[in-house]
Amino acid sequence: MTEATVSSQPVHLIRPGKPAEPDAPRWPRPAVLALFELPFNDLLYRAQQVHRQHFDANEVQRSTLLSIKTGGCPEDCSYCPQSVHYDTGVQAGKLLDVDEVRRAAAAAKEQGASRFCMGAAWRAPKDRDIEKVVELVRAVKDLGLETCCTLGMLTDRQARALKEAGLDYYNHNLDTAPEAYGRIISTRDYQDRLDTLEHVRAAGMHVCCGGIVGMGESREERAGLIAQLANMDPYPESVPINHLVQVEGTPLHGLDPLDPLEFVRTIAVARITMPTARVRLSAGRQQMSEAVQALCFLAGANSIFYGDKLLTTGNPDWERDQSLFAKLGLRSC
Ligand code: SF4
Repeated sequence: MTEATVSSQPVHLIRPGKPAEPDAPRWPRPAVLALFELPFNDLLYRAQQVHRQHFDANEVQRSTLLSIKTGGCPEDCSYCPQSVHYDTGVQAGKLLDVDEVRRAAAAAKEQGASRFCMGAAWRAPKDRDIEKVVELVRAVKDLGLETCCTLGMLTDRQARALKEAGLDYYNHNLDTAPEAYGRIISTRDYQDRLDTLEHVRAAGMHVCCGGIVGMGESREERAGLIAQLANMDPYPESVPINHLVQVEGTPLHGLDPLDPLEFVRTIAVARITMPTARVRLSAGRQQMSEAVQALCFLAGANSIFYGDKLLTTGNPDWERDQSLFAKLGLRSC
């Protein structure tokens, strides 16, 4: 029996487009949506095949995320407890100093992290903020770790300053599909995100860019997010797929939860459409059962955030992750 006859949809026929026109997308949205709609087993089988062509299927990269400047952000992202627009109990803090960051990075390295990500709750850093972040990047690089920052919107000059300091990755998420963006954030638009990503690329840094699912979006909109990411040229090297963590006080608190299998499908579609990217199982892991996390690894997730806190929300602690890795025979890389 061929693949085409065992499936209700012909798995092998859903492929990136070979566009007749030079500007046509590599992954037209209908092709991405068709992946989402495959029978679950077919989707996971295909994702595993793609994953094994490009990676050791039992290796998972571990990144640690530190909030270097918490809260007080003027943006109104509906999911975020750090926005000044919502009363969530998050206390605004100052930018951490070099010694604090160096200590946290050394501890993360000790616990097996290979990349250290620093997040600051800014709409867009000022040039004097960038000067301080440059020092932090240098301190973390000196420990032999890969570095990543997420600082908000960057100018071209700021992106180049970070690259010169040795920053390896810049994280800037698209969050959701273009047509859903206005429901989630009103203080900036999609094009602002794309402009920063262009500055990051032009400066020669790797791009870390993904989104958040479970924000009340439709499957079509999830496909729209993945299509946006997969059609970047080149697509991001690192693709965090976050599951909304509902925080009391934010507008998205109280939404109906997303079916966990739909989350797994999103990971699988990201893996298939961006074969060589590190697909990161990011926020929301603390609320996920081990079985769902295992399905995400099977679907092609090969990176996690590691450590007991993600900016301001919880993350599984070190022992729980060690135990899960041991059960699944996963290794860190
Ligand atoms: S997600 Fe980032 S930009 Fe949006 S409110 Fe939170 S800290 Fe600010």
